[in-house]
Amino acid sequence: MKDVNQKKTLYASVSPDDPAAGRETLVQASLILRAGGTVVFPTETVYGLGANALDPEAAARIYAAKGRPADNPLIVHIAEPYEADALCVCPPMYARLARAFMPGPLTVIMPAKPCVPKTVTAGLSTVAVRCPAHPVAHALLLEAGVPVAAPSANLSGSPSPTCFRHVKEDMDGRVDMIIDGGECDFGVESTIVKIEDDGSLLLLRPGAVTLEDLKSFGADVTVAPAVLGALKEGETVLSPGMKYRHYAPKAPLYLLDGTLEKRRKFLAEQKARIAYLAYAEEAEQFESLSLALYSLGEEKDTKGQAKCLFRLLRDVDKENYDVIYAPLPPMDGLGMALYNRMIRAAAHQIIKL
Ligand code: AMP
Ligand code: MG
Repeated sequence: MKDVNQKKTLYASVSPDDPAAGRETLVQASLILRAGGTVVFPTETVYGLGANALDPEAAARIYAAKGRPADNPLIVHIAEPYEADALCVCPPMYARLARAFMPGPLTVIMPAKPCVPKTVTAGLSTVAVRCPAHPVAHALLLEAGVPVAAPSANLSGSPSPTCFRHVKEDMDGRVDMIIDGGECDFGVESTIVKIEDDGSLLLLRPGAVTLEDLKSFGADVTVAPAVLGALKEGETVLSPGMKYRHYAPKAPLYLLDGTLEKRRKFLAEQKARIAYLAYAEEAEQFESLSLALYSLGEEKDTKGQAKCLFRLLRDVDKENYDVIYAPLPPMDGLGMALYNRMIRAAAHQIIKL
């Protein structure tokens, strides 16, 4: 096989409004997947870097393309919820979750069956499965006829790509094919839950299926400590991806915990070349300060913020700021997904004002 960095990447686009019109592209992508190659495709969360989940060598190519540590397992994507049966031992809770949230941005972790390669599970006894709702992802999975392991299609450590341009920046020459399907709906990765032996859920990563959604569906849910806090020395991490530095821009990022007035006063006192990720309500008031403002949208619009967060982190990183500040997100609703991504991007540096 050619060096991972020197592939000729094929480009194509398939409209989410009419995936049937992109059938030729989807057939070509399926042939690549079945032959052990790698294909980047859009999902409703972020773009995924896919390979045949039942082929250990194909799955290994994902780690090579991303520069991903070998102990960080992959999520397996399936066309229909029932296909999880072939890959894992599904407890009754899985069928309930599937009825409520699938297809959609929810990943479920269950005990793996022996057919799932160790390169996919990173040697764990469990496997993560997800059934995406994106029309292009769904059509590709149906056409491929195999489960597709697909982590986010970014270089390891970078923000997940939410549009074709970001995928191209990271993956050109490293994968066999990239399918452009426009901008992703949610912009943050899927919610991950593990089904425990007693049927309760452990929330390992917050996403567009929120803690409140899981609770009102009737689940007994615990939030894993690493979701909202830093891991303590020697603490074991239940989802290996949570221990890695992630999304972090080159300049240090600090999250400001205080009212708009306090944020304004703090920023006015700073001397460095600053970028600030501002709520729309702040942008107008902070215009007179010497900072580069990047708009997160309205303070209440967490959906809009989730959709643009990774793009902003990439944009900010292209300029050489001395330091980046952003407001500390709330912890409820979709805010929890923002909080979880932003404390990672900020390496847990929170300034209490
Ligand atoms: P990504 O697909 O890039 O969003 O990353 C997949 C995430 O799922 C990583 O944070 C992994 O650590 C997590 N994950 C995948 N499989 C498992 C598993 N069996 N147990 C716990 N976490 C998992
Ligand atoms: Mg990722």
